[in-house]
Amino acid sequence: MASAASDTPSRPFGLVIHGGAGNYAPPKVTPEKERAYRTKLQEALDAGYAVLDRGGPALDAVVATIRILEDSPLFNAGHGAVLNADGICELDSSIMDGSNLRAGAVAGLQHIRNPIALARAVMEKSPHVMLIGAGAERFAQENGFALVPNDYFQTEERREDLRELQEKLKNPAKAPRVSAEPANAFGSEHQYGTVGCVALDRQGNLAAGTSTGGLANKRFGRVGDAPIIGAGTYADNATCGVSCTGTGEYFIRAVAAHDVSARIAYQGKSLGEAAAATLAKIGQLGGDGGLIALDREGHVAMPFNTAGMSRGFRLSTGESRVAVFPDPK
Ligand code: ASP
Repeated sequence: MASAASDTPSRPFGLVIHGGAGNYAPPKVTPEKERAYRTKLQEALDAGYAVLDRGGPALDAVVATIRILEDSPLFNAGHGAVLNADGICELDSSIMDGSNLRAGAVAGLQHIRNPIALARAVMEKSPHVMLIGAGAERFAQENGFALVPNDYFQTEERREDLRELQEKLKNPAKAPRVSAEPANAFGSEHQYGTVGCVALDRQGNLAAGTSTGGLANKRFGRVGDAPIIGAGTYADNATCGVSCTGTGEYFIRAVAAHDVSARIAYQGKSLGEAAAATLAKIGQLGGDGGLIALDREGHVAMPFNTAGMSRGFRLSTGESRVAVFPDPK
């Protein structure tokens, strides 16, 4: 739709993505691995941007982008998700349309290849916002989704991560930063790789989505922030779109994604100020992670308080970048 561009030449569009915040310390993240993250982030950004560039809706861009990250073993979503304490992948996802505040979410999936697509189907094809577990998978089958075996999601690297983590929990002396206490069982060791996207289309609509395998070694049935609207994901054309990553319990307690939006709506904060204040609050509670946010003017915020966060953005102004480690001061 080239005419959209000529009708509104000055309206910015674009997207921002993350591939998870966490302890990206060597030796786990080698220079080769960092390159692999950056390449995949760029591929996902370009796919989402292409949707927006041809006049497609922000929701389509969010789904197209997140599907690529879910299909990559590099990220903790879809194929390559972390394993729970029983060695099973349980996936959570959500999506929100900032033009009408409609939303869809799924949690505890064990057999759906692209949870973000199912979250969208819940939003568009059911009267509900959130479906979980077996009920969500029944809804998926009724709507033409194929089920895949749980093995499809599991990679040897994630199995090894789980073995290592469980070993450390048995021997806390070997890993003083890891504790079995629920409040800090994940802490600075928490696994990274949740994915998220916020897109702004040529019509000025925002959408946000998040997809994750949650936290490694989580209890069976544990649900984090990613599928909770207002915690891990939020979008409102009047303020911004947000997707979060990190120790989800804290993001739920801080209602993090909506908190960013509320600071803009009620306090008149800029996007950057609001995102930073929300992350500071999470830090004060003891949580770690990061978030991405985008508003209708094309302002981008990507704060995090962990060693790294895979992230990137591409805007119609020509600005674009991807990064994994903190920006140089
Ligand atoms: N926020 C996700 C969760 O708690 C995990 C992550 O982002 O790394 O499930």
